[in-house]
Amino acid sequence: MNIRIEKTTAPKAKPTDESALGFGKVFTDHMFIMEYDTGMGWHDARIVPYGEISLSPAAMVFHYGQEIFEGMKAYRTPDGEIQFFRPEENFKRLNQSAERLVIPELPVEDALQALHALVEVDKDWVPHNDGASLYIRPFIIAVDPFLGVRPGDKYLFMIILSPSGAYYSTGLNPVDIYVETNYVRAVKGGMGYTKTGGNYAASLAGQDEAHKQNYSQVLWLDGVERKYIEEVGAMNIMFIIDNEVVTPELQGSILPGITRKSVLELCKKWGMKVSERRISIQEVSDAYDAGKLQEVFGTGTAAVISPVGHLKWGDKVMEINGNKIGAISQKLYDTMTGMQYGKLADEMGWIVKLNG
Ligand SMILES: *Cc1c(COP(=O)(O)O)cnc(C)c1O
Repeated sequence: MNIRIEKTTAPKAKPTDESALGFGKVFTDHMFIMEYDTGMGWHDARIVPYGEISLSPAAMVFHYGQEIFEGMKAYRTPDGEIQFFRPEENFKRLNQSAERLVIPELPVEDALQALHALVEVDKDWVPHNDGASLYIRPFIIAVDPFLGVRPGDKYLFMIILSPSGAYYSTGLNPVDIYVETNYVRAVKGGMGYTKTGGNYAASLAGQDEAHKQNYSQVLWLDGVERKYIEEVGAMNIMFIIDNEVVTPELQGSILPGITRKSVLELCKKWGMKVSERRISIQEVSDAYDAGKLQEVFGTGTAAVISPVGHLKWGDKVMEINGNKIGAISQKLYDTMTGMQYGKLADEMGWIVKLNG
């Protein structure tokens, strides 16, 4: 794939205080953009100055939500090199999302080429602070100016980059989670396993309710029986019960997280008992009462491992591991971030160097 590169003539000042970056508010100098037209395929790959794009108000994405995205990071190692964590997994998953939303597939090699080329151009934007990273947001939208309901004939694939601060500025603090029993996020047969905007729009009301009750995130239950555990807002969820790592199986309504997959692989390598299966909130509550619920944590690219301190289900509030991070959660966090930031050897073959 040929990528045309047009560099900005007015580079922005880079943030001087990386600890004040927060998440998703600052964008780099450039972006990647490529178009798709039925009959032509993907064409006109280019890296251009970051800026606004112009679309028809009738563009299909605005009306029927034909949109998919990914979320990944670039990390800077102590010797200044830049690297990615399993980036091909993100682009494979983008294609799984594409298939469900009838969006044309994007060759994984082309997407990876675009990623490396864009991060190379903006590599000075990759933060240096411990725990900070360059958040990467690839996405595809349908842009035909047409109000009929059908898959688009015209799409844009774009990648934008956002330097982001450390998720945990004061160590791994446990989060408080609220079990949502009214709203549901997705059902089997729907789009739950895809990263598409609609799933997040569907989650906002529940999230809002959780915030009102001073909980930071929602734990979703299955959409049919409201009994079985699904996942958290943008994280998969794991329980350590009686020394076994248990996480909901991938059955179509939850996101197949790359962090989830990596954590399961690591736990297996460490000789732990791991099971992907249906698990009800009642089972978790019973394990808690029996003193067998040792750790609960979320897994996702943003936080890597997010220990749960309190889990509220109806009137019951379970305090997990004395509201402290558990030993396995800590070990997983240290191992994963150690590899990502190049401080630990990559024994799993998960790291890809920029242009490597
Ligand atoms: C992105 C996401 C995850 C985590 O996936 P990772 O690949 O580990 O970042 C989990 N659940 C939802 C709903 C997500 O959007």
